[in-house]
Amino acid sequence: MNSMENKKVAVVTGASRGIGRAIALKLAREGCLVVLNYNGSVDAAGKVKEEIESAGGEAEIYGCNVGDYQACEAFFKEMIGRLGRLDILVNNAGITKDGLLMAMSEEDFSQVVDVNLKGAFHCIRQAARQMLKQRSGRIVNISSVVGLHGNAGQANYAASKAGILGLTKSAAKELGSRGITVNAVAPGFIETDMTAALSEKVKAGAAAGIPLGHFGSPEDVAEAVAFLVSDAAAYITGQVLAVDGGMGM
Ligand code: NAP
Repeated sequence: MNSMENKKVAVVTGASRGIGRAIALKLAREGCLVVLNYNGSVDAAGKVKEEIESAGGEAEIYGCNVGDYQACEAFFKEMIGRLGRLDILVNNAGITKDGLLMAMSEEDFSQVVDVNLKGAFHCIRQAARQMLKQRSGRIVNISSVVGLHGNAGQANYAASKAGILGLTKSAAKELGSRGITVNAVAPGFIETDMTAALSEKVKAGAAAGIPLGHFGSPEDVAEAVAFLVSDAAAYITGQVLAVDGGMGM
């Protein structure tokens, strides 16, 4: 059996670790062939691929810096040329370079925007070309509660994640008539490498502001993404779904 004839193809950026890894595992369990994008962690991406395959799923890995337009163009061209279709894009890749506004270098601001916001634009630009041809597609962009409310020490990150919301809504308006939905998920405090670096004091402060009383898991975010890319969410577009334990209320 040629499984590619039956499976939806899903690209998850930043799928080597954390939330992206959980999304990739979930979409593979839902029956997708998952293309796992990563930047530097080739071994970690390989392990996620093995995990998917040992559970009977299908996955590929592809290293590409999403902040590089030409690299993204080559990635999608090669991948779509080989697999023949693209059904789901999850723009999850993200970085932080925290610091107070008055001390933040122009470089740190630009790097975060280049990966988090321009990276999503680069991938949507490439994916939409194929989805428009197919007259169907699902795009989910991972924003953050910080993009909705701001956060001291994260002006670059908050700007990139707020930008994701405008990008999501504009893309939803442009692509909707061709059967493509575009939504955003705004996680709160999720336990991954990204948040592991924070001090216990910052973590305790964050936990105190969460009505559900605990941090979220990557799997909590993956469930929301899986819903938004499912047939059940066919009439939902341009929305922002917070997965934050009530933190952003
Ligand atoms: P993480 O554990 O630090 O993982 C980041 C992932 O992004 C890794 O797979 C990394 O790949 C990839 N990545 C980084 N730069 C990249 C680039 N230039 N090109 C391609 N891939 C790149 O982060 P996470 O906590 O899972 O976060 C995932 C997403 O959720 C991010 O967009 C983040 O902003 C968002 N988010 C996280 C939280 C949270 O509390 N954790 C809250 C709200 C939103 P390599 O391993 O190859 O470096």
